[in-house]
Amino acid sequence: MNVLKFGGTSVGSIENIKKVIEILDNYSKKEPVICVVSAVGGITDKLLRAGEFAQQKNENYLPLFEEIKTIHLSILEGLIPDQNEAAKTYLENKLSSLKSLLDGIHLINELSPKTSDKLVSYGELLSSFIVAETMKSQNLDAVRKNTQDLIVTNNNFTKAEVNYPTSNTNISEYFKNAAQKITILPGFIARSTTGETTTLGRGGSDFTAALVAAALRVNRLEIWTDVSGMYTANPKIVKQAYPIEKLSYREAMELSHFGAKVLYPPSVQPVLSLNIPIHIKNTSDPEAYGTRITNDNSNGFLKAAKAISNISNIALLTLQGTGMIGIPGFSKRLFETLAQEKINVIFITQASSEHSICFGIDEKDAELAASNINITFENEISLKKIDPIIVEKDLSIIALVGDNMKNHQGISGKMFSTLGQNNINIRAIAQGASEKNISAVIAEKDVKKALNAIHERFFEDQTKQLNVFITGVGNVGEKLVEQIHQQKKYLKEQLKINMRIVGLSNSRTMVFNETGLSSKSWKDDLNSGEKASINGFFERVKTLNLRNSIFVDVTANEDVSKIYANYLKESIAVVACNKIACSSTYSNYSQLKNLSIKYNAPFLFETNVGAGLPVIDTLNHLINSGDRITSIQAVLSGSLNFVFNKFDATTKFHDIVKQAQKEGYTEPDPRIDLSGVDVARKILILARESGVEMNLEDIENTSFLTENNHKSSSVDDFYETLITDEAHFQKLYESAKNNNCQLKYVAEFDGKTAKVGLKEIPPQHPFYNLEGKDNIVMFYTQRYREQPLIIKGAGAGAEVTASGLFADIIRIGN
Ligand code: ADP
Ligand code: ASP
Ligand code: MG
Repeated sequence: MNVLKFGGTSVGSIENIKKVIEILDNYSKKEPVICVVSAVGGITDKLLRAGEFAQQKNENYLPLFEEIKTIHLSILEGLIPDQNEAAKTYLENKLSSLKSLLDGIHLINELSPKTSDKLVSYGELLSSFIVAETMKSQNLDAVRKNTQDLIVTNNNFTKAEVNYPTSNTNISEYFKNAAQKITILPGFIARSTTGETTTLGRGGSDFTAALVAAALRVNRLEIWTDVSGMYTANPKIVKQAYPIEKLSYREAMELSHFGAKVLYPPSVQPVLSLNIPIHIKNTSDPEAYGTRITNDNSNGFLKAAKAISNISNIALLTLQGTGMIGIPGFSKRLFETLAQEKINVIFITQASSEHSICFGIDEKDAELAASNINITFENEISLKKIDPIIVEKDLSIIALVGDNMKNHQGISGKMFSTLGQNNINIRAIAQGASEKNISAVIAEKDVKKALNAIHERFFEDQTKQLNVFITGVGNVGEKLVEQIHQQKKYLKEQLKINMRIVGLSNSRTMVFNETGLSSKSWKDDLNSGEKASINGFFERVKTLNLRNSIFVDVTANEDVSKIYANYLKESIAVVACNKIACSSTYSNYSQLKNLSIKYNAPFLFETNVGAGLPVIDTLNHLINSGDRITSIQAVLSGSLNFVFNKFDATTKFHDIVKQAQKEGYTEPDPRIDLSGVDVARKILILARESGVEMNLEDIENTSFLTENNHKSSSVDDFYETLITDEAHFQKLYESAKNNNCQLKYVAEFDGKTAKVGLKEIPPQHPFYNLEGKDNIVMFYTQRYREQPLIIKGAGAGAEVTASGLFADIIRIGN
């Protein structure tokens, strides 16, 4: 004899019921089978909602009833297209008695738990009828038996307690004489000793199946559902979750108790003592192995933590006060009060000082619990020995489960540090002495992030998900998007980094996709996106609340740079190509650095100096390893280098600058480059990163531009003045040539002060042969005393700048 239970989705459509019948048919060829069915998916909820509407005198119960009716009739019609008259009539009669019940509730304006059970019992009664009739119409040897004749309970409506001896006898007596190969039983419903319809609690069909399996002492119980077993986390919330092949009863119970809805928690109890294995299988994929639950936890040593689960809608209640210390009986009175009101306590922690007890319950019970507790402790509260109970809502419990966690060290540390790194506040913690379960209470809004982050840390082969948000999709930004898409596969395979671009924005529009924007259509998607705003972008990144989020600023916009602090405070990493933040006031720069440390959110800006060249990274390595910078000499402007390399007696200064701008080597406003401001910002950043407190005004800047150039009111006007003052630039060139030198715009830092300016460089100097748009940086340090550490290469251009940003993003991944 086999017992198979099929859930709501499995009997939720014509197609799925056909699969169920095929499975049952195959099984029944070997030995008789018992099939427990749930209501058609979603029907129990609909029945309850219709009941509530009716009770509130809201006519909306009528269309809802029609919907319930249509669903059942059309499934029947689809399964038994011909000669279904008798079945159809039976179903219609049942539905009309359901309608009368709803009308009655509407009329008397009342829905008691007893009536509610009667109401929802229609779900399983109808589904089991349809499945049985379909099988009979296919000449299968099937019968339906009403479980209410077998399972006897008390009158605790909506979650009745089973009378095991009577129910066991009824079940074994009935099946001793059952002749049919296939018996269909409605799950979830039962009957009280006084003959009333009762139910076993939401999700209770699993329990029905377990009761039958235990009463008949079958070899195994199969729970057929819409997923391939019990997963490492709820697959609807954690995409990377995967089925666990083996679990112990204890682990399965912990997981289901803490929200893994795939198995109704009480279902384990009846089969546990008889050692009947539970096998969870997928109706849509019968070949998949699924999960086998037994009392064997021998493979637990390999994997200490088995899965993570969560329960939403939790309220945390705290009873505290000095009057509790050392006085026995407080907890007893507290929990007795809750028990009297039948309030289930999911989670308890008590501080060792005994000064407070904190416990978690279902949010819907919070008011009832609070008012009763305040009455119980009325006296102590009035004497100010304890405070009135504190209630916090919108919380969720997450629980990491595994029988053998106790044999491994550092698991809770790993769990809590993962939460901390993702800026998830932990409200309370509970870890049983058995260490089979470590649970934490967190805000509901953080659940998805928490589950994904913990899952990644414990259950994914070190693969790290990076969620990238890019603002500024011009030349460089576009290249960055392309590079990320191009490298995706490599990153995943070689570096175990799963990178996806979740948000993109330019100055006009922005677009988001939590599963990653398409590598093919991102441009169109961005163009047809919503209206862009700097704050709006931040709010979206924050609300999406994804783990390992990285904000990338590829603009040159001051307003964008002003919002970095907001990102860092949410533990969102910032990667900036934009130099404004790091070259703004020292206090702002150091505040961002401090926020980065405080919130554990990297703040990287390698591309601020030398585009893709590893200048800042090298500098950081030197400092971190204990070296000290004594001086820096550098050519840091790719654009100025380009200009002075091309400029000679045969060219015009104006034309060369125009060309540099056209080829993308200058800032949108070339004055920022030519005035030396851009170079000053760069050497300022290097000085600051060397550990010196400095501001832009402290940098000596000897300009090679004319007064006319400086006074220009616009970019166009500036170009005009370049033409007028051509002679001045020719003179600069002449002088250098006569001295056998090259003109280079040089930045210098001597360990304390910094300066920038145009210099004539003699042939033996390393800067002399610097070509094209190249940059060069020479670090003189305590270790590199005579011969400097030199970094040289292309210091401008979209491709290399994008790759510098990319390198920063990967640094975060590592
Ligand atoms: P049925 O109607 O078949 O009884 P349920 O909806 O009660 O199915 O349970 C199956 C659902 O449980 C899955 O679709 C999934 O969303 C949810 N679930 C939650 N946690 C887990 C988990 N750890 N493993 C598998 N499923 C889970
Ligand atoms: N139909 C019931 C419910 O939705 C029981 C079950 O599906 O297990 O709760
Ligand atoms: Mg279920």
